[in-house]
Amino acid sequence: MKKWYAVIGDPISHSLSPFMHDYWFQQHGIDASYIPLHVEPADLQHAIESMKLLGISGFNITLPHKQAVIPLLDQLDETAQHMNAVNTVSVKDRSFKGFNTDGDGFVRSLLSYPVDKEKALLIVGAGGAARGIAFALERAGFTDISITNRTFRRAQELALETGSKALVMADAEAQLSDFGTVIQTTSVGLTEEALPISLTHLGSGSVVADIIYNPLETPFLKQAEAKGCLVLNGVGMFVNQGAIAFEKWTGIRPDTEEMIKLITEKLGGNHVN
Ligand code: NDP
Repeated sequence: MKKWYAVIGDPISHSLSPFMHDYWFQQHGIDASYIPLHVEPADLQHAIESMKLLGISGFNITLPHKQAVIPLLDQLDETAQHMNAVNTVSVKDRSFKGFNTDGDGFVRSLLSYPVDKEKALLIVGAGGAARGIAFALERAGFTDISITNRTFRRAQELALETGSKALVMADAEAQLSDFGTVIQTTSVGLTEEALPISLTHLGSGSVVADIIYNPLETPFLKQAEAKGCLVLNGVGMFVNQGAIAFEKWTGIRPDTEEMIKLITEKLGGNHVN
């Protein structure tokens, strides 16, 4: 029987997940469809119950439901517990298990670049995405992680939980040339004037990542590139978080390089990373 998968969110119409997963299902000869479901917060519980009743085989969860879905699931894996957020659900015997593949997706994408795990790394931002990334970097063996954030208290809390250092923004800006890798995880990425951190002291040899992928090149990445840094946008994270979900559902590791090119083209750009 044909299997079905979904992504639930509000809004959801612009999601690229259906394109990505349907492409991989087709490529691997799997008889399945992946559909976007617009679910408002007040309907979340009914939506989850209905999906169980209708025999869904797996699903993704995006904003604003990543935390609210947790009490509606049967099991939670350790990463999702640490992050207190779920983006992927696997189904076995009608039991729903929540995972979070965002952080590991980012790390897989970063590791396709020449980064040195022993060199100092700076995370800019301390929201949900930064949280997943900080835990995943620690698990992947990065030894010197600092976190800075507009609201310093949140950087302190995350640093305490992940065994990292918290830096006030002014200190992070002054010490920027010390970091081999800088990761921009805030939601700031649209306007030229509003960089979340000044890049004046950024060194030319750093790897600089922005997890935003639409636009493909944020003002932050443009400035880092102009300074001679190797830059990485958020398409790789998006594709790799999806690939890890696909692997959990099917046991197959899909081709991420090809998908990064396809998604980049869909977003109107050349393949830059
Ligand atoms: P959150 O709302 O949890 O966190 C937002 C972060 O941005 C906080 O650190 C916040 O700082 C900071 N911030 C917001 N506005 C400003 C500002 N004007 N100046 C400085 N800092 C600011 O969001 P998420 O962590 O869930 O998502 C962040 C971004 O990551 C989004 O743009 C999202 O699209 C992207 N993302 C990309 C993914 C991918 O696959 N590539 C996956 C997941 C997310 P403060 O604490 O001070 O409010």
